[in-house]
Amino acid sequence: MERAESRIIAMSEELRDSISLIDLFEMFPDDDTAEQWFVKSRWPDGIRCAHCDSDNVDTKAKHPTMPYFCNYCGKYFSPKTNSAMHGSKIGYQKWAIAIYLITANIKGVSSMQLHRSIGVTQKTAWYMGHRIREAYKIKSEKFSGEVEVDETFVGGLEKNKHANKKLRAGRGTVGKVPVIGLLERGTNQVITQVVPDTEGETLRPIVYVNTTGNAIVYTDDAYAYRGLRRRGDAVRHGTGEYVNKHAPEVHINGIESFWSIFKRAYKGTFHKISPKHLQRYFNEFTGRHNARSDGAEKKMVNIVRGAVGKRLRYKDLIS
Ligand SMILES: [Zn+2]
Repeated sequence: MERAESRIIAMSEELRDSISLIDLFEMFPDDDTAEQWFVKSRWPDGIRCAHCDSDNVDTKAKHPTMPYFCNYCGKYFSPKTNSAMHGSKIGYQKWAIAIYLITANIKGVSSMQLHRSIGVTQKTAWYMGHRIREAYKIKSEKFSGEVEVDETFVGGLEKNKHANKKLRAGRGTVGKVPVIGLLERGTNQVITQVVPDTEGETLRPIVYVNTTGNAIVYTDDAYAYRGLRRRGDAVRHGTGEYVNKHAPEVHINGIESFWSIFKRAYKGTFHKISPKHLQRYFNEFTGRHNARSDGAEKKMVNIVRGAVGKRLRYKDLIS
C-alpha cells in the first residue's frame, strides 16, 4: 500500500477551481502522474478492488498494465478496470486531457478536435468521446417546486426548421428526433430524454417519473400535456405569448435556453449526430449544465467516478 498511498498524498489535497493549459501539463506531465490522479479520483478513501470492492489489495502487483491485485477475489485491476475506460490502451495522460477538454468546453469537443489535440486517430477520439459521455449518465432525484417542461427536435434539414412550432403538437417531424427536457427552477438542474414521438402517452409518464406529486409544472401548450396530473400552467406560444403579464411565472425560458446551447453546439461543433447516439450527447450537455458551478478539477473527478461500472464496447457502439 505505502508506495501508492504516499504518491497520492504527495499530490495536492485541494481540487483546483480553474485549470490553465500550464496547470494541465503540470498536473499531468506523464502517464504515471496521470495514473495516480485517476487512482486518487476514483478511490479518494483508499484503493478498493475494481471487481469486488474489497479493500484487501496488493498495490505492488507484477502485471504490465494492472498494478493492483485483489487478495480477496484473486484478480488484477487498474483505475480503468470496470469503467468507461475499461481495456483502453490509450495512456492516462491522454485520457486526462480528453476529460479536461470535454468538461471545460461548454460547446463540447468534436472527434476531429480531440484527434488533433491529443494525437490519437479520429476513430479512437470518437470512441473516447463516447466513453466520456457515457460517464455523464447519472440518475437524478425527482424534481420538485417549479419545473419547466418542453420538447425540441434535433436534426433534419435547415430549411424545415421554421416548421418546428407548428409540428410540435403532433407526431415527430420527418428526419428529426424529438427530445423532452425538464428544468427544476430552484436548482437549475436539467433532465433530458430522447423520445420516439411527442404523444401524450409518451411524454406524460416521463413527467410523472421525474417530478414529485406536488411539483408545479409549466409547459408549452402542446396537446400532449393536457390532462397532466400536476399543478401548473401552459404558455400559449401558439397565440404569440412567451410570458403572461398576469402570471409572469408561467414560462419555459430556462429549458429553452438549454436547448439553444445544445443547438449552437450541434451546428458549430458536431454538425451531424446519428440519432442512435443522440441520448449520449444529451447526457454530456445535461451533465455539463448540471455541474456548471463545480470547480474545474471537480468536474473532471466526477467523470472518473461517473465512469465506474459504465463499460462501453466499440462493437456495441457501432452495431
Ligand atoms: Zn476483488
